[in-house]
Amino acid sequence: MSARIIDGKEFAARLRARVAATTAELKSAHGITPGLAVVLVGEDPASAVYVKSKGKAAHEDGLRAYDIRHPATLSQEALLAQIRDLNADASVHGILVQMPLPSQIDPQAIIAAIDPLKDVDGFHPLNAGRLMSGEYGVSHGLVACTPLGCMMLLKDVLGDLTGKDAVVIGRSNIVGKPIAQLLLQESCTVTIAHSRTRDLAALCARADILVAAVGRAEMVRGSWIKPGATIIDVGINRIEVDGKNKLVGDVAYAEAAEIAGAITPVPGGVGPMTIACLLRNTVVAAALQAGLNPPAI
Ligand code: NAD
Repeated sequence: MSARIIDGKEFAARLRARVAATTAELKSAHGITPGLAVVLVGEDPASAVYVKSKGKAAHEDGLRAYDIRHPATLSQEALLAQIRDLNADASVHGILVQMPLPSQIDPQAIIAAIDPLKDVDGFHPLNAGRLMSGEYGVSHGLVACTPLGCMMLLKDVLGDLTGKDAVVIGRSNIVGKPIAQLLLQESCTVTIAHSRTRDLAALCARADILVAAVGRAEMVRGSWIKPGATIIDVGINRIEVDGKNKLVGDVAYAEAAEIAGAITPVPGGVGPMTIACLLRNTVVAAALQAGLNPPAI
């Protein structure tokens, strides 16, 4: 194995230490305790685990966490009313509605109802547009947490990304598209691949930076990878090995690690960065709402 392993767990711990320090400073200098409301509709076990870990992490870093749960039968109107209440609540600086939502609720209507200044997921159309226009980026504004975490890792590993060929596999609004925007802001030459892309292997072979955000276990083979490339594996896939559940990414890790220059493991790569960036966004949101200069964290 030759690739450097990009330790997202360790980087996330350092980021969270900065979040905790900034939170303490906001409290002591301005009397503000950043507040994060996490709303869960229904009892999906995976979502419940995510919500619990987000609340726990917020507490640990000194933020105030509001854990709001609703039955799966909740109407869209009732959820919109909840969002309006949270928008009006001055102690809540960040609102996260856990996806996926039950089928009677339109996720776009919910995302659009969140106050853009409290949109710590960065999914509101206004914030997505601010990212597109360059007003928001890796070091400023409210940018979607997983893409932001990926970029922090990439900048930490590579420093200046100017001129690098980057291939992003996946075009979702929550991962693929925002990562592509952030890479473009860093002056990479960006290609977005997706389910209809032809000859994906040949495209990947050109990539100095390869980001996989697909949701297909070990789809990207070692033979696709340019020697020395930096690989960011966003995928989280549950597979069964010898009767036991195992988490793997979208990249065939053992093969890829022989060829790549640096690679994120799954688990322990991008995953821990997502929660750390959510807390970072909540602290930034609290500062923005108070009219303060956003902290550089
Ligand atoms: P999605 O299903 O919304 O999007 C998947 C994308 O992959 C689509 O754009 C599709 O065009 C593309 N795709 C599908 N099959 C393909 C193929 N054969 N070749 C090329 N492209 C193909 O998924 P998402 O929400 O963007 O998430 C992607 C993965 O990232 C999932 O495994 C998800 O669990 C994971 N994820 C991880 C984190 C984290 O914190 N680490 C956060 C969000 C998502």
